[in-house]
Order: sequence, then C-alpha cells, then structure tokens
Amino acid sequence: MNATHIFTRAGLGSAPFRLVVIEDRGTVAGACDYCGTGIRHFCWIESVDGKQSKVGTDCIGKSGDRGLVDAAKLAKQAATRAKREAERAAQYKSALNEQRERNGGRTDDELQRDVQDLAAAKIRSAGQALAASMPMIIEALEMGGDWPRSIGARIRHECEIPTGRCRSIVLEIAGKYHGGRRNSKAYIAAHAKAEDEIYGAEAKRQVAISAYL
Ligand SMILES: [Zn+2]
Repeated sequence: MNATHIFTRAGLGSAPFRLVVIEDRGTVAGACDYCGTGIRHFCWIESVDGKQSKVGTDCIGKSGDRGLVDAAKLAKQAATRAKREAERAAQYKSALNEQRERNGGRTDDELQRDVQDLAAAKIRSAGQALAASMPMIIEALEMGGDWPRSIGARIRHECEIPTGRCRSIVLEIAGKYHGGRRNSKAYIAAHAKAEDEIYGAEAKRQVAISAYL
C-alpha cells in the first residue's frame, strides 16, 4: 500500500491536509493546483507543514483523503444552509416591504395591531362615557370593596354593563349607598334612580357599540 498522499506527490506539502475554507468564486476563476483544471469552488487546503493550495472539489473527491472529503461535504452543507437562510431572510424582508408599500408604511402585523389598539381605545372611551352617564352607580361601586370596584372597572374599561343577578346586587349597593336602610323610602327611590341609570346606559351602550362595529 502506497501511503504517500497524492497531493504530497504533486508537491502540495506533507500530509495530513486540512481544509481551510471553500471559496465560491461564482464562476471559473482559477486553476486547481493539483490538476490544472479551471475551478469555481476554491477548496483551500493546508499541509501539515503549512503549505496552502487551492484544489477543486473533484480532486478532493479523488484524493481518497477521508478527512478532506468529509470536511468538504460539511462545508458545502453549511454553505447551502447559509444560502437558503439568506434567501429566506431576503424573501421575508421583501414581503415586509411589499406590505409596507400596500399599508402606507405599516406591515400587516403592525396594521392589525393598530386596528386592535384603535378598537380597544374606542371601547375604553365608550366605557368612560358610559360610566359618566351612571354617576350614582359608579360612585356606590367605587366606595365598595374589591368586587363592586371590579364591576365599576368593567364598566369603565370594557363598556360592560352588569346583567342578571349581578345587576340586582349592583342596584342594591347603589340603593343602600345613596338611600340607606333597605326598603326605606330613600332606598326605594335611590334604587329606582339607579335602575334608570342602568337602562339609560344600556341604550347608550347599544348606540356606542353599533357605531364602532
Ligand atoms: Zn483538480
């Protein structure tokens, strides 16, 4: 078995060789130092005694040098991966640019967020208006504990008017806060006024919501 490396025999230095880098010149841009053929991919190799040479991928393949063949294969895979990633990044960038052109400077995601933000802002401002139209109830809720305050917050921030059992309790809270003892005249009057506030707010809410849809 002849142990002398074919690259060594060709004067490229002593084995073992290592692959330094594969340089893709895009077109045939030089000659292989081993066989003289024009090459596009410069596989730069270095001999153990420090001699650098450029050889073609074909000659790496024919060298029978397992280490070089594997290194070249890995380098090619990495290059392919990098190229694919660069293409994907470019595609993504151009898609974003296309969206910005279409949306007056905003990407689709940004535009969607703008729409959501605007809707949320409208709901909040409608909620503020709603709360302002039911001052008795809001005041009574604000002076209550965590639960009544959370009901008040839902009215203000989410434009949500209490219904059902929750509404009955809210009216009781407002009646007691403004009228005192349950079933007293003042309580009944305050309860009725609070109920008017709720009905009025409900009508307002319908108008507000339909305006925003
Ligand atoms: Zn060659």
